[in-house]
Amino acid sequence: MKIVLLGRPGAGKGTQGKRISETFNVPLLVMREILEAEIERGGDLGERIRGYMLEGKLVPDEIIFEVLRRELSSRDSFILDGFPRTIRQAEWLDKVLSSDGGLTAALYLEVDEINVLRRIMGRLRCKWCGRYYNVFFDPPEDIRRCECGGPLYQREDDRYEVIKKRLDVFNEETAPIIEYYERQGKLVRVDANENDIDAVWRRVKEAVEALTSHQ
Ligand SMILES: [Zn+2]
Repeated sequence: MKIVLLGRPGAGKGTQGKRISETFNVPLLVMREILEAEIERGGDLGERIRGYMLEGKLVPDEIIFEVLRRELSSRDSFILDGFPRTIRQAEWLDKVLSSDGGLTAALYLEVDEINVLRRIMGRLRCKWCGRYYNVFFDPPEDIRRCECGGPLYQREDDRYEVIKKRLDVFNEETAPIIEYYERQGKLVRVDANENDIDAVWRRVKEAVEALTSHQ
């Protein structure tokens, strides 16, 4: 089973990916973690990746391809999160997997933009214990204080300007991939609008079960 996970930021790819991995015993590969591991390992490639990240630049495709090719060559099943983000990357992945049965499916966790904004912008974190609240779905009794008494704050990354930018990148670069996989007949859509993680998980699980029974 070779699956890529697609979805807007805040769609729950991390959480659902982890559950798929544990339930179906398939390794979860998170692109950001693969790059971080490469930095940890040291060496020339890792140093170059570190340089791009320090400057806040995107790591170029050629470097990502090199790292990922090695990672994928040793696996006969995986769930990939954070890749592909562009059509070019999707085409590269198809080429790499073509000799080996190809991709099983692209699992698309569908969430409306307005729900992403509610989920991320509504988030409040406790400075003391790290607990998260959400002003829309899981509000604290006192909007300024955690249950533990700690002050609540909004993370820098959760501000509107930041999340809007990420959503725009998704719409411009990643959304075309959804069509790309749809044309291949590999797109599996799962409605992830509900805020109940378990309810979304039941749908995800059903979708993955359907995939494995086809194999
Ligand atoms: Zn607290």
